[in-house]
This record gives sequence, C-alpha cells and structure tokens, in this order.
Amino acid sequence: MRDKAVVLIVDDVRINLQTLAHILKEDYTVKVASGGAQALELVVQEPIPDLILLDVGMPDVSGYDVCRILRENSSTVNIPIIFVTGKDSIEEEEYGLSLGAVDYITKPIHPSIVKARVKTHITLKRQHDLLKTMAVRDQLTGLYNRHYLVDMMAGKVSEAKRHEQPLCVIMVDIDHFKEVNDSFGHLEGDKVLQKIAQILQDEARREDVVARFGGEEMVIILNNCSLPEAAIKAEKLRKKIESSEPEGIAISASFGVVQMNEVNNTCEKLFKCADDALYKAKELGRNRVEVYESKK
Ligand code: GH3
Ligand code: MG
Ligand code: MG
Repeated sequence: MRDKAVVLIVDDVRINLQTLAHILKEDYTVKVASGGAQALELVVQEPIPDLILLDVGMPDVSGYDVCRILRENSSTVNIPIIFVTGKDSIEEEEYGLSLGAVDYITKPIHPSIVKARVKTHITLKRQHDLLKTMAVRDQLTGLYNRHYLVDMMAGKVSEAKRHEQPLCVIMVDIDHFKEVNDSFGHLEGDKVLQKIAQILQDEARREDVVARFGGEEMVIILNNCSLPEAAIKAEKLRKKIESSEPEGIAISASFGVVQMNEVNNTCEKLFKCADDALYKAKELGRNRVEVYESKK
C-alpha cells in the first residue's frame, strides 16, 4: 500500500482548490481538477485517488453528476466522495448523501474540520482495501488465492464463450519441492515459493490471473490466448525458473497447458485437464511443458 494516500480535489473556483490543497498537501498526495469533466479523467489515472473532495456547482459537469457516474462504474465505486459545497440546506445535504457520498462539508471551509473528516474517511478506505486484499490474495506469495481464482474463472469461461475467444489454463508445479524443504528448511522453501510466484507474476499480462492453487502449485488463466501462444509462454516461464536459482537453489517446475473447447468448457474440467497434462510432464521426467491432447 502507498505511504501517502491520494486525495483528488475538484472545484471550478481556483481559490477553493488552492485553499483545500494547502490544508491537505502535507499529509496527502493531492491531485486537483478544475471541473467535473477533468475529475472524471483524473480519477482513473495513476495515482488513483483514495478519496475525492467534490464541489457540487460546476459549469461543465455538476458534482452530483460526477458522483452518479463514479458510483455506477465498478472501477470507481469504492472511492469515497465528500461533497464540499456552499449549498447548506438539509435537503441538499440529504440529496448528496443519497447519491452515495460518504460525507458533506459546507463552505466556508474550516481547515480542522476538513482535515478531521478526510482523515476518518481515508482510514476507513484503507481498512476496506486491506480487507479486500486479504480476501483475494494468498498471504505468502501475494498471488490471488484459490477462492478468487475459482470465482474469477467462472466469469472468464462465460466471457470466452460469449465472445468466442480462446481461453487457456497453465498449471505449474515445482519439481521435488519436498526435497527443498527437507534439505534447506521450510523457511527457505517459503522464500523459493515467493520468488517463483514473482517470476510468474512478472511475466503475466495485465489481464492474466495468476493464482496459488495450493501448496507449490500455481495456475495462470490466459484469456484471448491461443494454445500455441500459451505453450510458448509456459516454455518461457519454465526456462526462467530453471535459470533463476532462487536462494542459490537449483529449481525447476513442470507445466500442464490446456485450451478450452466444446468438451472441456467448465472451470472444473479445465483444471482437471491442466492437471492431467501436468501429471504427464512429471511422468516424462519433470522440468517440461505438456499440452493436454483433447480426446474429441
Ligand atoms: P513433484 O516433483 O512430484 O511435484 O515433487 P514434490 O516434492 O514437489 O511434490 P509433493 O507433492 O510430494 O510435495 C510438495 C511439497 O510442497 C510438500 C510440502 O511440504 C511443500 N509445500 C507446500 N506448501 C508449502 C509452503 O507454503 N511452504 C513450503 N515451504 N513448502 C510447501
Ligand atoms: Mg511439486
Ligand atoms: Mg504439488
């Protein structure tokens, strides 16, 4: 997680932007937008804000509309919004909160109030992010956990069917890993596992899902990727792992690759096929890639 949280301040009046930025810049990374349209652009650009201070009355896109748009978009729905506005009636406040804002600050601005409220909502946001990460990530390797993998896979399978796009699964199992633990200890084994996971993650495309399936077994889901491409990818990973020598230990891994087709078209079947191919790679001597041969 970033050290400094990021706050996006949105206001069409320059002096308001300056005042708020001045209050917050010591504790936060501050981004500013001088209108609703610019806010909608900046909100999806790195660094992604942890919180938005949003003016209501703006000539291009109003704060209410910005809030509505952000609440409807899955990538921005969890960014807390605080309205900062001159509209101080109960009705206005009620309306702002009904749109999903977490708080409502009325102008004139009192620095200590702004600071306190921002701090509270940043803390809540960070706790939320942490819990979310813990729910989907494996603690040791930082890869996605099996629970997330299975959830995600169902969506990937139906998406691939709908768009008639190829979907491949690579299953990876470290060779003779028990011996690593036996010879160097479990803690060294953990470090090796972390480094192998890092290699898989580093080589992944943004849209790939890399997950720890269990123990020293990992899975990569590649959507919109053909079988030959997936096999090449697996071979590249195999070579990288073989030459990596994590903790100075010679390590190799075996790979099973499968592409979804009309027969093998569910999450369970794809994992089973990838595992069959992986088993074959082990039988044929390990440190190799085997592609699942469809029997249809
Ligand atoms: P193979 O080449 O057939 O895959 O042999 P292997 O020794 O890798 O396979 P086996 O399934 O016999 O043993 C897997 C080992 O992985 C045993 C288990 O202790 C180890 N392991 C599983 N999870 C972890 C972990 O989180 N940390 C460490 N250090 N070891 C783990
Ligand atoms: Mg193994
Ligand atoms: Mg295993």
